[in-house]
Amino acid sequence: MLICACGNRDLAIVTSWSDRNLGRQFWSCLRNERRCGWSGWFDEPMCHRSVEVIPRLIRSMNKLQESLQQATLQARMYKLIILFSWALFSTHYLKHGRSRL
Ligand SMILES: [Zn+2]
Repeated sequence: MLICACGNRDLAIVTSWSDRNLGRQFWSCLRNERRCGWSGWFDEPMCHRSVEVIPRLIRSMNKLQESLQQATLQARMYKLIILFSWALFSTHYLKHGRSRL
C-alpha cells in the first residue's frame, strides 16, 4: 500500500491537465482536504509524440466546440426570425385577405 511522505494513507488518483502531461494520472496526498504537496506518478511517462500531439488535438477540439455552439445559437436565431416572419405574414394575410397581398 502506498503511503505519503507525511504518513497519510488517504491518497487520490488525480489527472494532470498540463500540456506536458495531459491526461496522465498521478497520486496526490489529500490530508485534511488540503494537499501536503506530495505527489507521485501513477501512469508511465508519456511518449514524446503524445506530449506534442495531444494538446494540439485538445485545442482543436475546443475550437470546434466553440464553433458548434455559435452555429447552434445562429440556427436558433434564424428559427425565431422565420417563426416571427411567418406570424407577421399570417396576421397580415388574415387581416387583409388574399387580394391585398
Ligand atoms: Zn501527505
